[in-house]
Amino acid sequence: MKRVGFFRSIQMKFVLIYVLLILFAMQIISVYFVNSLEEKFTSNFKASLEERVNLLEYNLLEEIVKERNADSKTLEQDVRDILGDFSSADDVIEVKVIDVNNRIIGTSDTDNRGVVGQRTVELPVTQALSAGRVGKEMYVDNGKRVWVLTTPILSGSEVKGAIYLVSDIEEVFAQLDDINEILFTAAILALALTAVLGVALARTITRPITDMRRQAVALGKGNFSRKVKVYGQDEIGELAVTFNNLTKRLQEAQATTEGERRKLSSVLSYMTDGVIATDRRGRVILINEPASKMLNVSRETVISQPIVSLLNLEEDYSFDDLLNEQESVILDYSTHDRPYVLRANFSVIQKETGFVNGLITVLHDITEQEKIEMERREFVTNVSHELRTPLTTMRSYLEALADGAWQDPDIAPNFLDVTQTETERMIRLVNDLLQLSKFDSQEYNLTKKDTDFIEFFNKIIDRFEMTKSREVTFRRKLPRYPIYVTIDQDKLTQVIDNIISNALKYSPDGGLVSFKVEEHGDTIQVSISDQGMGIPKKSLERIFERFYRVDRARSRKMGGTGLGLAIAKELITAHGGHIWATSVEGKGTTIFFTLPADLSEEDDWE
Ligand code: ADP
Repeated sequence: MKRVGFFRSIQMKFVLIYVLLILFAMQIISVYFVNSLEEKFTSNFKASLEERVNLLEYNLLEEIVKERNADSKTLEQDVRDILGDFSSADDVIEVKVIDVNNRIIGTSDTDNRGVVGQRTVELPVTQALSAGRVGKEMYVDNGKRVWVLTTPILSGSEVKGAIYLVSDIEEVFAQLDDINEILFTAAILALALTAVLGVALARTITRPITDMRRQAVALGKGNFSRKVKVYGQDEIGELAVTFNNLTKRLQEAQATTEGERRKLSSVLSYMTDGVIATDRRGRVILINEPASKMLNVSRETVISQPIVSLLNLEEDYSFDDLLNEQESVILDYSTHDRPYVLRANFSVIQKETGFVNGLITVLHDITEQEKIEMERREFVTNVSHELRTPLTTMRSYLEALADGAWQDPDIAPNFLDVTQTETERMIRLVNDLLQLSKFDSQEYNLTKKDTDFIEFFNKIIDRFEMTKSREVTFRRKLPRYPIYVTIDQDKLTQVIDNIISNALKYSPDGGLVSFKVEEHGDTIQVSISDQGMGIPKKSLERIFERFYRVDRARSRKMGGTGLGLAIAKELITAHGGHIWATSVEGKGTTIFFTLPADLSEEDDWE
């Protein structure tokens, strides 16, 4: 948690406000107090001096107006006596007495007696003598404040002289300075006390607030276990209680949301369909595991990507088009060797006001469905084609016969022979189709029996060797001991018949057909090779598909239906084996198949 700097803290603000308040109050009080004190002190000081000067004036007047004879003291001597009192006074610097002729007739300053007899031209003295005016002024002399009082000595309204008194008022100010010092110290003490009190008071407010702040930070991190301490019943206490209630509510709400989120995410991840959600601008905000697998993208990279580019639809659709798309959109991601088709359904997330909040896309893999549908269509086309060809042939031959050819003994038997062959081929075709349809609907049963495969295989080869009409040599590479397999003999005979008859069909005259049986672990591998024309590499896989023929016309001429190997594959798979072919064009073909065999030591009972 980031701490608030002291200078920004409430504590600092509190202290500052208090200190300033006290400072202002002290300032105002001291200014008022000191001013009035100063006034009081100076006026007292002045009044006391004035009183003494009045007394002096009275004494002096007496001496001035006194009759003097030769025995009596001179005026100067009398004045000196009177001023003697002042020479020792602390607050008086000097008192001068001046006669009407501006001559100094006495001074209280014993060191300054030389001035007696001298004339003075000081303005206040002149004014006092000429106009009888009392002069009061203050000035600074040698860094000291002095107060000067000039008073005329009046006898009635007649000026008889003047008194010039210089007093040391500095004492008064020194006292004031002391008082100021006391005030200053008091102010400092008050401020310090206020600062301490301010911090203490601020803490009572900031402590609960800091607690609440810590709690809020913890809430942000998902920790709901903490509680704010309630310090009192005041507003802040109430706030703390409310805060704790809020935390509880938040915790409940969080638990509910979390539960819902978990439910949603498990629904999303366990469903087999892909789900993608976007924001209102079409950017991906959620994609579930199946969707990212279907689109072969990683979740992290597609978040925030536009959905149209994620689904590769930029060329045909904008995001607005998707919002308005009512039908599902087929996404064909098939490549040359892998069919891959998805169906996308869109639904808009809308508020009641109609405001679009986003789009939900549900992806469904319909590759298998599409493949089945395609195969079904192809199958129907193939069946119709396979049936139509012999029927058309038969119709033209029957028409020719009807048109009179039946009467021609050279042609008629030949024509009837053709129609018979075609009919037989059609019957074979229909039988094969029926058999395949049984495989498709799983309506077949294998009647399995333990069989010595070597003996079984040899018998089939023998049958072909005896009935073969072509100059073809057979070579067998079979073990001389029995190998037991559990098979449906009829079905497996059908398979092997088909493979051998193909080998014979496609073998050249004088060619060699080899039969081999090998043991591989717990299976046996059977192979039948010929030296025929071979099969092109690209067709090798496909010869096991229904109706697939490398050379359609040639196969048909040989009476093939194109279903033989497809049936063989179904039967071998039903026996738990595999079937495949290898071939070198122009050199020959080998058809392999495997069967699970019981290769454990024979006859444990013996
Ligand atoms: P068909 O009835 O046409 O023989 P099959 O399913 O038995 O139908 O065989 C499918 C196709 O595989 C044949 O049409 C042929 O083109 C090819 N084929 C099968 N066996 C051989 C072989 N031994 N040599 C060459 N081509 C073969």
